[in-house]
Amino acid sequence: MNDNYSEFDIQELYQQIIMDHNKSPRNFGKLDHYTCELEGYNPLCGDKLTLYLELSTNFEDQTIIDVGFNGEGCAISTASASLMTEKIKGMPIADVLQLFTKMQQMLTSDIDNKATQEMGKLAALAGVRRFPSRIKCAILCWHTLNAALLGTHEAVSTE
Ligand code: ZN
Repeated sequence: MNDNYSEFDIQELYQQIIMDHNKSPRNFGKLDHYTCELEGYNPLCGDKLTLYLELSTNFEDQTIIDVGFNGEGCAISTASASLMTEKIKGMPIADVLQLFTKMQQMLTSDIDNKATQEMGKLAALAGVRRFPSRIKCAILCWHTLNAALLGTHEAVSTE
């Protein structure tokens, strides 16, 4: 993030990222070929999501080859899933698991601006921590992803 941005500009930019990813979600739709599928549900808001992952078979350095999602949810849940899939495609699973922890921290506790900005575009969602009822909307896809990578087969619920 460029230092010339004012706090207002950053908020405006974050807003635009969320609106854009809600309007045209990236990686939306079921994959033709996937190795793992998991559903997530946020009863608080009604967000539903199904995540499809194609994982590499090389166990030494397992990577997310491809990822897609579908479902129906509010703007925050859709934008969050879109941003997540964009970010994790091609990423080693070990890194994805670390990113999940960082995302949880960013969405639930007040990490400093520097740590927030290090999250890149995902930082657009940091504002939801001021709205506790929306945190589950943003974190649903991440919980579903984490559970899928840990080998869970039962649908994930945020409640
Ligand atoms: Zn929601």
